[in-house]
Amino acid sequence: MIELNESNPFIHDPYVRAQPEAQAFWSAAAENRFLLKACRNCEKFHWYPRVICPLCGSSETEWRPASGDANLHTFSVIQRTEVPYVLAYVELAEGPIMMSNIVDCDVNHLRIGQPLKALFTRAPEGRRVPVFAPRGAI
Ligand SMILES: [Zn+2]
Repeated sequence: MIELNESNPFIHDPYVRAQPEAQAFWSAAAENRFLLKACRNCEKFHWYPRVICPLCGSSETEWRPASGDANLHTFSVIQRTEVPYVLAYVELAEGPIMMSNIVDCDVNHLRIGQPLKALFTRAPEGRRVPVFAPRGAI
């Protein structure tokens, strides 16, 4: 069992409490660093972070820095809000596909396969989360 680090600034954050094995991810994100879990056995990255590799079952997983490079796998523009936003799946250069938001973009000019770069924004709960912007926008 993984114990929560009481010095973690997000100890009361429901995301961190629900998945303590991801606390290293949130701590790094607070410093604008993007970490991914990788497996020393099969040498593949996976998302979301897990103690046991979902690809080969090995417990030999470790945190590695992610490049922040990705491309737009699929997306939807949410229009029925005051400010439209983009909900997307992005394919990370390391392989995994993750759900995120696309920011700093013209929502009418996004295209599948478009190169993206990660940046961090602050969630309402206070923790920093990775989002993506078209390359060249940041
Ligand atoms: Zn593995």
